[in-house]
Amino acid sequence: MAKHTGTDISKRVHNIPPGTSVESFLIHGRHFTEKWDFRHHIIPPQSSSVTYRLDKTERGARGFQEYASGDAHKTKPIYIYDRLDEPTRGMLEDELASFEGGDFCVAFSTGMAAISAALGVVLNSGDQVVAHKTLYGCTYSLLTNWYPRLNIKADMVDLRKMDELRNAITDQTRAVYFETPVNPTLESLDIGAIREVVDEFNKKRADDRKICIIVDNTFATPYCQRPLELGAHVVVHSLTKNIGGYGTDMGGAVIGPHHMEGQVLLYRKDFGGALAPKSAWPILVYGLPTLPLRLKRQMETAYEVARYLHGHPKVSRVVYPGLENYPQLALAKKQMRSPDGNFVPGNMIYFETVEKDPAEPLNNIKVVDWIAKNAYTLTLAVSLGQLRTLIENPGAMTHAAVPPEKRLEGGIAPNGIRLSIGVEAAEDIIRDLEKALAHAL
Ligand SMILES: *Cc1c(COP(=O)(O)O)cnc(C)c1O
Repeated sequence: MAKHTGTDISKRVHNIPPGTSVESFLIHGRHFTEKWDFRHHIIPPQSSSVTYRLDKTERGARGFQEYASGDAHKTKPIYIYDRLDEPTRGMLEDELASFEGGDFCVAFSTGMAAISAALGVVLNSGDQVVAHKTLYGCTYSLLTNWYPRLNIKADMVDLRKMDELRNAITDQTRAVYFETPVNPTLESLDIGAIREVVDEFNKKRADDRKICIIVDNTFATPYCQRPLELGAHVVVHSLTKNIGGYGTDMGGAVIGPHHMEGQVLLYRKDFGGALAPKSAWPILVYGLPTLPLRLKRQMETAYEVARYLHGHPKVSRVVYPGLENYPQLALAKKQMRSPDGNFVPGNMIYFETVEKDPAEPLNNIKVVDWIAKNAYTLTLAVSLGQLRTLIENPGAMTHAAVPPEKRLEGGIAPNGIRLSIGVEAAEDIIRDLEKALAHAL
């Protein structure tokens, strides 16, 4: 039997044998839930019913009252209407909550819907959120374009520096928000250290003014990192990426402590943005069960590709948390652990091309455009975590919403390239990169 030094999933889920590995749990799930049982089906049926038959008025009335008060918890589901609760999505939510180590999971139509909900239940007009200075482009836009309209202040600082965090926190601060590894530059942020600083402030505050640490765990997935075990209060995901894994469906998730569940459900009921059961189904049936397999393969390849790029004369910098020269290797090794305790540095690589004038980059565009036209195993496209290897220029594409000077400050160089490694053979990816780099100046 495999030795488990990390997470014991059987402690979080009833009725599975002690010592069950996460890999097996993601394939076999809970077997018997009040949502579906598996006496007949091996694969859960895909439910497709907007509304539900109720046996009496009182039952419907109770359900509505619970949702309206923010007291709805889904241990004993009352199905009324898809946007409130729904069995296929509910099974996905149960698995994600156990996998990530949270008390609940509420699934949304996209990652951005989940991020808006997690921040939306915590922040009121007049509050402030402190975020890392480099963020996914749309999250950056949410914080800087929309929150000022609601009189919510967003301060972006370098969360690698605890002094900057301490100085940014005010009486109005209610949330600290970040990704780790950061998109696209892949630096790591120390979740435990950030929690210690936040605890210093929280111990002097009433419960309803405490600061909530929200971590976007999209890049790592709970297979590679479980922020709730490391000190975060809430985790958000884009299920569209690694967890969905096949690039067929969008989705998002909020995972957190019991006392927030009712509020997040209420938010989803009223703002909408529930994950469609037709999208929950492939994530549950294809995405989660194959996640460890896909990631293991992608990580082996990512290491080889990162080493290849590191030695290339036309590449000035390579950032991969598994590479020996990664500046925060000790931190990555502390945070990025599979449930059975191995170092699992993920499937994303960031690198920069050598340029005559780094302010006027040519080579990274040349390399990516050559790939767009000619490569077989690399595809110019945004998104990540698919079977295909995807490549893009973050400065010009995913992070274009971030103003150029902020991009530079955040380490998104104009000559940067982001690679999401797929499950192709490493030598084929390297052959395509070799040819592409030969076309750089
Ligand atoms: C893609 C992504 C999001 C947004 O997710 P969508 O499903 O596209 O809405 C948020 N955070 C990170 C880190 C992402 O990569």
